[in-house]
Amino acid sequence: MNLPRTVVKGKVVDSTPRILPGVPAEYDAIIVGGGHNGLATAAYLGRAGLKTLVLERRDVLGGAAVSEHPWPGYIVSTLSYVLSLMPPEVIRELELHRHGLTLYPLAADYYVPFPDGSHLLLTKDAAQAKAEISKFSRKDAAAWPAFSAYLAKIARLVRPLLLMTPPAVGAKSPADLLELARFAWKLKGLDVQGTGDFVKVMTLSVAELLDEWFESPQVKAARSVSGAIGTYGGPYTPGTAYVLLHHYIGEIDGQMAEWAFVRGGTGAVSQAIADDAREHGADIRTGTRVGKRTSCRRTS
Ligand SMILES: Cc1cc2nc3c(=O)[nH]c(=O)nc-3n(C[C@H](O)[C@H](O)[C@H](O)COP(=O)(O)OP(=O)(O)OC[C@H]3O[C@@H](n4cnc5c(N)ncnc54)[C@H](O)[C@@H]3O)c2cc1C
Repeated sequence: MNLPRTVVKGKVVDSTPRILPGVPAEYDAIIVGGGHNGLATAAYLGRAGLKTLVLERRDVLGGAAVSEHPWPGYIVSTLSYVLSLMPPEVIRELELHRHGLTLYPLAADYYVPFPDGSHLLLTKDAAQAKAEISKFSRKDAAAWPAFSAYLAKIARLVRPLLLMTPPAVGAKSPADLLELARFAWKLKGLDVQGTGDFVKVMTLSVAELLDEWFESPQVKAARSVSGAIGTYGGPYTPGTAYVLLHHYIGEIDGQMAEWAFVRGGTGAVSQAIADDAREHGADIRTGTRVGKRTSCRRTS
């Protein structure tokens, strides 16, 4: 989706030659890999009027957003399992609900059992969270709403960046400078305190961040999961505070920081996107591994 937003609005026909100057003949674009990002790219390019071919190595589409049938009668999301970070703009623009996407928000964020038999169940219900956290620390229960609001504030600031083309750092063309100015404009709401908070969340480890807010090891353990998950690091690995923030950036049905299961598993997301891509002219081939990519420049 690394395209101008105008592509989505159907105003890009005249930009086609600039996007793909060297691709001849049958297809305007060939996408290697039928993960959800490749499929979404095909869908957006198709909506922009380009003829697209998607080549997927495996026999099943979706990449890490895939549902498979390891046993007869069972559907299993073999890798990713919950959804949040797909921007609602993409869901709307690719009409994924019309293509069958059905989301079920999670009833609880985390249930964490401890060796002594106690547990912590965290939901979005403020009163429930307060009662649960009070079991371990009243001070932490009091700090919880402010901590959630603090992360939500930074998440609101960072979220628009998901839909921006990253600026070409160091480039000096007017278009790149304009893009950098747009990027800076997004951060205009930051005062001195906000800038400090932003830098902290972007650089600290999740454990250091939580140490600043909470005293109970149980509360810190439960919350640090969202920082360390998927990082090949631990709670003290620098940068994991941002991973926690990442869990506040997404939304489901307008509810920020919400996550959802997908009917049919996460593969159903990929299938819905693939349906939209096909509907807009994409050819999608599975069981087709691309061995080598050759660049060629058109000379006439
Ligand atoms: C274990 C695990 C759990 C995760 N859990 C979650 C989660 O719960 N929620 C969440 O939001 N995210 C989760 N993620 C992250 C998320 O799933 C990935 O970021 C996302 O699926 C990446 O999508 P992609 O389309 O960019 O790449 P991929 O999904 O990696 O797709 C790339 C595709 O390209 C194909 N391919 C590669 N080389 C070739 C070739 N030479 N020729 C043809 N095809 C090729 C691959 O087979 C694959 O289908 C998880 C990831 C993992 C690994």
